[in-house]
Amino acid sequence: MSLSIEEIRKNYSQFPDYKIVQLAEQDSHSLPPEVVAILLEEVEKRGLNKNLKESVHIQQAPVSEEKLVELKQAVLYAPCPSCGSKKEPLIALKLVETIGLIFVAQHTTRFFIACPTCNRKEVKRTILKTAILGWWSPKAMIYYTPKALMQSYSNFSKSTEQSNALLEIFILAKLGEIQAVVDKPLQLSKLLKRHNINGDQI
Ligand SMILES: [Zn+2]
Repeated sequence: MSLSIEEIRKNYSQFPDYKIVQLAEQDSHSLPPEVVAILLEEVEKRGLNKNLKESVHIQQAPVSEEKLVELKQAVLYAPCPSCGSKKEPLIALKLVETIGLIFVAQHTTRFFIACPTCNRKEVKRTILKTAILGWWSPKAMIYYTPKALMQSYSNFSKSTEQSNALLEIFILAKLGEIQAVVDKPLQLSKLLKRHNINGDQI
């Protein structure tokens, strides 16, 4: 049995702020227009971050070229999520890791964004991890591990060209969250750090 609009409105009015923020930042693209309207009323009524309304709106329609450029610039010039440096624009990387278990090789590709110096450290760390942990199954030894080592190295050597495309994929997947902190560089940097740590798959 589906809920009436009035019941949904009552439920939303009882949600804690963090739940409303989460819906606005991450889940509003899956809500029907009448529920989006209720969500926006709650954001307004509670005086939550004014960017949240825009977070909801940009998840409702295809994002414009200008908006994408604005979000990309904000991300590129945020403080580095690893060291806090603001000296150079950030670069997005695709890191490839292989961990060989006895019978299976776990092969993962993850998104990572940081300043060029921290990227170099992370690539070395990933290559070292794969080199140490990637040899313990026959399949890993002959196929995945050498491939992962080569890919990490080659992704890093052409990272500037790849960064732009990766960044767009990342931004389009996290539109609402990024919009909510687009004018708050420190919070944006924290958001990037969270995604680096979680090892978002790409
Ligand atoms: Zn850094």
